[in-house]
Amino acid sequence: MTFQIQAIDVGYLDLAGAANVFFIEGPAGFTLVESGTAATWPALETQLEQRGVHPTQIMDLLLTHIHLDHAGAAGHFAAGDSRVWVHSFGVPHLINPTKLLASSRRVHGEMYERFYGDLWPTPEPQVLAVSDGQIVSAAGLAFRAIETPGHARHHHAWLLEHADERHVFVGDALGIAVPNSNFISIPTPPPEFDPLAWKHSLQRLRDTAPTHLWLTHGGLQSSTTAAARQFIDRVQARLEEESALLQRLAAVIIASGARESDAYQVALSQAIHEYKNWLHPKAVAAGVSAQNNAKFLGDYFVRMNLQGALRFYSTNA
Ligand SMILES: [Zn+2]
Repeated sequence: MTFQIQAIDVGYLDLAGAANVFFIEGPAGFTLVESGTAATWPALETQLEQRGVHPTQIMDLLLTHIHLDHAGAAGHFAAGDSRVWVHSFGVPHLINPTKLLASSRRVHGEMYERFYGDLWPTPEPQVLAVSDGQIVSAAGLAFRAIETPGHARHHHAWLLEHADERHVFVGDALGIAVPNSNFISIPTPPPEFDPLAWKHSLQRLRDTAPTHLWLTHGGLQSSTTAAARQFIDRVQARLEEESALLQRLAAVIIASGARESDAYQVALSQAIHEYKNWLHPKAVAAGVSAQNNAKFLGDYFVRMNLQGALRFYSTNA
């Protein structure tokens, strides 16, 4: 059983290194982990064609979760015969994306049309619900789903074992490795961010004793068990400091008044300012350029994280 894994940079957000789709060639064909967005579909299609592969040859598409940067082009594959494997909570949203798209438009605002685009519905028979521990056979390889909530409730990592290698496609469960730096950014979007569940998920990932960690946002981050363990430890430290700050900022915003009030809006703007002042020096110290600070950790990112924190901490103070 041999295989080859390639990270395909799909040019998400028009940025190099912002998001990958993983192309895996196995003994019985090709499979992908993640689909990219509808907006990056042409780029993905081109990169598949360059490998001599037509999208209709992708019989199985494995998704880590249904956020549009991971699953936004799932329906494009389903327009062929592809089976789409996703957490059971994600199934109805792939069949009928109306609610998901409305919520994505709210989260992404003016970025939506340009960088995301609409997820096409996937016909019900082609969407397959995955549960924790389930083995999915794709391209002649066995992928095990590891339920890893925290960034999203309906999140799976996918484990592919071969000899003494354990490759894990972690989705967003290990954050975002900002390109050309050592900085791990923690994305905490609404509505399912849950820092406590996330910490347990990190332990689940440690327990798989991974060698290769494939981040959707950052690509291959380790190729030994020692390096993988160290990386997960760093993610945990970042998660803990980020959650502590977010909890404090969320408490101030929540205490400021009703959501519609001017006081709330003022508190939100102040929190955005404070968050950036806290985050950017850390990122710079880890090698993030000023340009990438603005692109990866700017208002858009900070606002999204605060919305996720407000959602979580308003019910889990
Ligand atoms: Zn996500």
